Amino acid sequence: MLEPSLAALHYGQAIFEGIKAYKNANGEAFIFRPYDNFNRFNISAERMEMPTVPEEIFIEGMRQLIDLEKNWIPAKEDYSLYIRPLMFASDNMIGVKPSEKYKFLIMLCPTGPYYASPMKIYVEEKYTRAAPGGVGFAKNAGNYGGSLHAAAVARKRGYDQVLWTDAFEHKWLQEVGTMNVFFIFGNKAVTPSLEEETILEGVTRASAMTVLKEMGLTIEERKISIDELTDAYKSGKLTEIFGTGTAATISPIKELRYKDFVMNFDTDKWKIAPALKKTLTGIREGKIEDKFDWMVKV
Ligand SMILES: *Cc1c(COP(=O)(O)O)cnc(C)c1O
Repeated sequence: MLEPSLAALHYGQAIFEGIKAYKNANGEAFIFRPYDNFNRFNISAERMEMPTVPEEIFIEGMRQLIDLEKNWIPAKEDYSLYIRPLMFASDNMIGVKPSEKYKFLIMLCPTGPYYASPMKIYVEEKYTRAAPGGVGFAKNAGNYGGSLHAAAVARKRGYDQVLWTDAFEHKWLQEVGTMNVFFIFGNKAVTPSLEEETILEGVTRASAMTVLKEMGLTIEERKISIDELTDAYKSGKLTEIFGTGTAATISPIKELRYKDFVMNFDTDKWKIAPALKKTLTGIREGKIEDKFDWMVKV
């Protein structure tokens, strides 16, 4: 059972992934882009000085598990099976060093429609999620523990989550809570770039960029500051803001607050975010042709 000396509890070697499986109209089970999560899991493992997991354990293990449990994938619109692979240090020893033993597990959980009601977001200027050279690009447990307080303070102010900014100037935009963020300026989509390794490279982020490009938008992955955003809002050029992630797919932001400046959006009038969500959901549920080969049959 659990020993008080379990290394993961003391030194934080713990990583995870989040993936979803769907059933199409014929009752066949498919997993959405599991190889991307597999690669990211091992990137997290290397950063945390943990062993990487071979493909036949991660992918084939997941495939066999879902094959066994596929009746848990609800055959209903907007339902899916959430897949949570995780790995943690399992040495029972006090002392700061990489563990010699690890446990790798995959847990499953059926999920229903996730109504992403438009969010109110606070631009964070005190707390930091990630700094260059840190672990922001990894899906390790500590990143989430470290973020909870900022989210709680934002909630006390009446906001759902924070929009993280960079550690030095608190002006370069990173992510919204545990989602990547997209800013739509008319026919252009901008999302923060990854080169400083402070941003988690979302699979939904990559999928959104592909679909938005196909919808005819220009995509820019680059640094973007809060000042550029407020200026674009004032001149009417900033039309939509939304988060992307496996849980809710696309989450619109109806209010964004920076210091005393409040940006409001009428999300009912948006065109891009709803169209993007419809396409991504359609591909995952087998209703729209999977031309990018994202769905892996179980
Ligand atoms: C998991 C996660 C995301 C979204 O990644 P997806 O692969 O799209 O689910 C974004 N930011 C953070 C911090 C995350 O942990």
